[in-house]
Amino acid sequence: MFCFSKMHLCTIMSLLVIGSVAFDAIETPFGKTDKIIGGAASYITLSSSYFTKSINLVAVVGEDFPEAYISKLKDHGINTEGLQIKKGEKSFFWSGRYHNDMNSRETLVTELNVLGTFDPIIPESYQNCDYLMLGNLAPSVQSTVINRLKNRPKLIVMDTMNFWMDIALEDLKHTISMVDVLTINDEEARQLSGEYSLVKAARSIMAMGPKYLIIKKGEHGALLFGENEIFSAPALPLEEVFDPTGAGDTFAGGFIGYLAQTGDISFSNMKKAIIYGSAMASFCVEKFGSDNLIDLSQQTIDSRVQQFRNLSSF
Ligand code: AMP
Repeated sequence: MFCFSKMHLCTIMSLLVIGSVAFDAIETPFGKTDKIIGGAASYITLSSSYFTKSINLVAVVGEDFPEAYISKLKDHGINTEGLQIKKGEKSFFWSGRYHNDMNSRETLVTELNVLGTFDPIIPESYQNCDYLMLGNLAPSVQSTVINRLKNRPKLIVMDTMNFWMDIALEDLKHTISMVDVLTINDEEARQLSGEYSLVKAARSIMAMGPKYLIIKKGEHGALLFGENEIFSAPALPLEEVFDPTGAGDTFAGGFIGYLAQTGDISFSNMKKAIIYGSAMASFCVEKFGSDNLIDLSQQTIDSRVQQFRNLSSF
């Protein structure tokens, strides 16, 4: 896709995002929410919308999903042509509880509802995307999306979780073999590889196919593994963490959004992208749900990235 900007010809890197759009109920030591809007793709698209304005969403919700929230996504420039609304059906529902350290959580409820039969239809206008972000979903749905694209995107990033390791391990390994970058948390990396050392876990997971692996460690930051390189990004020590839900997705949205904005998928640019992703995640956890991702300014994001620079430069 091309545009004229400031009299120059520029290329807009389009980003295709799939993932859950959901209702969440969350319990943390600081409070409890009833059904609020969540889902991996909600966090990913909101976060990446601060970096690129060409975002196409493929997801599914039920008839119970509020139109006002879909409008909010549209206000952020997100194309919702690929968002299916299933008449007479219920949206995906997830409920989780965080423990006192906020780094570990248990899933209380997973009701797949519309996700149980999700057939991801890719609108023709979404074809030829440059970047593909496979947010958390059944791995068979994630691979179907890859197979339905006429051309392979420049970069495919995939996120997943322990739920799919428990019930769809073979599908998951197959999808992992198709992507360039996998993002998972430390506990999941250990479960998937059977290795306790994260370095050994990374080696074993990268042998499944991805060229790059990002291991998220919650309040301890994130590790990026490349062919022969490792980069460690800190997490910002925050005074108040209210709700870590969606932090991983917000991180992924900032990561791929920054790559799409800069058009550079080298390891050294991925290091920067990880810092932008971490900065976005730090906003996410400061409030319940995705509230803190609705109205950020460029200046607020830039000054948070500067805080990350100051944190570990010596
Ligand atoms: P995160 O905290 O980044 O791991 O993601 C939390 C989001 O993932 C919540 O908003 C949930 O709606 C969503 N989620 C939880 N379980 C699943 C699942 N099995 N499939 C898809 N999305 C899920």
